[in-house]
Amino acid sequence: METAGIAIYPPNAPKQSVRLRRFFVGSAAHTMNLAFVLLCWALGFLDTYSVTVYAAIAVAFNLVVYGVIRSGLNLRFKDPSLTFLQISIPAVMGLYIMYFAGVARGAFLLLGLAMFSFGMFRFRARGFVQLAAFILTVYAAQTGLLLYFHGDEANRKLELLLWVAFAMALGQFSFLAAMVGSLRHKVAEKNQALAKQNGELEVALQRISDMAIRDELTGVYNRRYLMERITEETLRGQRNGSAFCICMVDIDFFKRVNDQYGHQPGDTVLRSVAHAASKALRQLDFFGRYGGEEFLMVLTDTALEGAMVTAERVRERVAQLLFPDIDPALRVTVSIGVAEHVRRADAASTLKRADEALYRAKDGGRNRCVAAPLGDGSLHETH
Ligand code: GH3
Ligand code: MG
Ligand code: MG
Repeated sequence: METAGIAIYPPNAPKQSVRLRRFFVGSAAHTMNLAFVLLCWALGFLDTYSVTVYAAIAVAFNLVVYGVIRSGLNLRFKDPSLTFLQISIPAVMGLYIMYFAGVARGAFLLLGLAMFSFGMFRFRARGFVQLAAFILTVYAAQTGLLLYFHGDEANRKLELLLWVAFAMALGQFSFLAAMVGSLRHKVAEKNQALAKQNGELEVALQRISDMAIRDELTGVYNRRYLMERITEETLRGQRNGSAFCICMVDIDFFKRVNDQYGHQPGDTVLRSVAHAASKALRQLDFFGRYGGEEFLMVLTDTALEGAMVTAERVRERVAQLLFPDIDPALRVTVSIGVAEHVRRADAASTLKRADEALYRAKDGGRNRCVAAPLGDGSLHETH
């Protein structure tokens, strides 16, 4: 909301805006009170002078509070919402005008109660009791002044009765406020616990979805996920004719690693190979463990030649791996069979062709990449 270039709410200060909105609710209550005072005046219960003083103070008070919050001066107070001030000052003002209202005095107490009930949602129980004590004290003083200057016997008993009734009402309100406060506290606690649980659930869910698609030992994709991707790539290829390749990667003489160093160092080697290979790929490619010491690469949007370059890069990276913690002399190599998926073929036959190419790579001496023939039966080999 803008008026003549000055924003009613401070820009970029959501907390201050909330405080101002609350202030406007209070102002609306003020306006209502003022209307009531004017009604009392019109009916002859109040004199013009005291009503004028009341109205002037009401306007000034609202302007000052608005200015203090809008300028940010309120931030220097212990309670920047100025709640106590915003309820106690109007209450004192009400007690002031009530002083002159004669037989209409009792009606102001009703309005006072209504105003007081707002505090229930703004105060903690202790602040609420403090506010009640403050108002009752001022009310007692006002009654004292009234009885001193305009008192007679009947009047005195009635005023005392009104004060006691008002005090009892405030007492019950305070009790309610304490109940509302403890409910609010419980709700806040529950919300906190729920938020914590939600966080934990999210982490658990992430773990479960990771477990569903990742291989536990190496952290790369598992066989099931790889098969899903291959099926998807097959369908995609059928739709738009895009090429993709499957590379079957098998560690050479891995049994010897296990036999020589044990199963655990064998696992370490598996992890290192998986890590090195997956780092050698593009983001769009998929690398996973097919089973045992065999891995699979799915190279999307890639024809055979490009796939051979990638496979060769993976082979070289693995061959460069060092295992100082196991044996500085240990070197590991892989053989790779590469097959380009032929349009309209099924995934299983492409996998089979990759496997056959791998077999040829093993047969040809290992530590090499072999491409499955595309159609002319020729074999492409690198090492
Ligand atoms: P080749 O060059 O012909 O592939 O020889 P290889 O020894 O690698 O082949 P083979 O299939 O005879 O042996 C595979 C070995 O991989 C046997 C098995 O103990 C080992 N292996 C399979 N899964 C795991 C695993 O999770 N951890 C470890 N440490 N070893 C595994
Ligand atoms: Mg092997
Ligand atoms: Mg094998």
